[in-house]
Amino acid sequence: MGRITLEGVQKSFGPVHIIKGADLDVADGSFVVFVGPSGCGKTTLLRLIAGLEDVSDGKILIDGKNVVNVPPAKRGLSMVFQSYALYPHMSVRGNIAFGLKMEGLPKDEINRKVEAAAATLNLTPYLDRKPRELSGGQRQRVAIGRAIVREPKAFLFDEPLSNLDAALRVQMRLEVTRLQKQLGTTAIYVTHDQVEAMTMADKIVVLNAGKIEQYGSPIELYQKPANLFVAGFIGSPKMNFITGAEAAMRGAATIGVRPEHFNIVSDGQGWPGKVLVAEHLGSDTFLYVDAGALGTLTVRCVGEKSLKPGDQIALQPDPNRIYRFDDNGNAIVA
Ligand code: ATP
Repeated sequence: MGRITLEGVQKSFGPVHIIKGADLDVADGSFVVFVGPSGCGKTTLLRLIAGLEDVSDGKILIDGKNVVNVPPAKRGLSMVFQSYALYPHMSVRGNIAFGLKMEGLPKDEINRKVEAAAATLNLTPYLDRKPRELSGGQRQRVAIGRAIVREPKAFLFDEPLSNLDAALRVQMRLEVTRLQKQLGTTAIYVTHDQVEAMTMADKIVVLNAGKIEQYGSPIELYQKPANLFVAGFIGSPKMNFITGAEAAMRGAATIGVRPEHFNIVSDGQGWPGKVLVAEHLGSDTFLYVDAGALGTLTVRCVGEKSLKPGDQIALQPDPNRIYRFDDNGNAIVA
């Protein structure tokens, strides 16, 4: 079991208030991603759960038991770091086995567990190599192997893929997700990359300046962002925000339209604009359109659109996909 619950968790470093009251329930076996801009407190929140930092106030429950006074090694959690933190002088086998040796497990049991983890992670051929003889992705797998063999209640991942190149990140993203589903172990995963969050999570926690802005499934956050912050953070390219008369007419301080929810129309309707830049990706065309008082709008068209800078177009937002926000930036729900 690995249910993790936060109740009113606060953290200050000296006079600086970093985590401003976090309440959260991570279900056993789920994959939860903490996402938010740099400095919002993601790593701090993860380290509080791990026990590497003490809470200033509040409770952290693991399977119903408050662990705020329990040392990290006794919480039954395994952390995987961005830097891998492998021992350079030890083989892959030695690195994966290290925690189990420290626990004093019998040698044959250690070997069995290490070999099972290596097989799961496709590391069997590399068991006798040193970390420097491995690729970045293989090193990351060793770090994950070391976490797996301890059979933790939960894995805590701190930006584990950010040192890898783009292609390897996509591959490892799939591997980590597949592995977590196969093991059924609760996972909390920190990233600043909203695409990683959207693709890996069962549920996402969007953090901003030490506060949880919203907690929900990727599609919930995409379809029903609670406020301007979440609306702007989730989705790529970003949602367009429009203020002024066009928003007021719809009973909002701000309206939001995602780039993929525009149609280019030629029926005299729609918002007129001039193409500033057209990016042709083959699969999509991204347009940046000067729409006068409405500002510069980003438009995503599926497939190739043969438009070029200077072309005059008219944009019609899908009427069912216009988001409305009040003066405080909170979503207005119809
Ligand atoms: P990033 O994506 O850049 O890693 P993050 O969301 O993980 O950011 P944290 O590392 O949790 O952010 O840091 C949150 C804030 O707390 C930052 O402003 C940071 O400077 C501050 N902070 C973190 N650790 C300490 C510390 N030990 N002492 C003082 N301030 C700290």
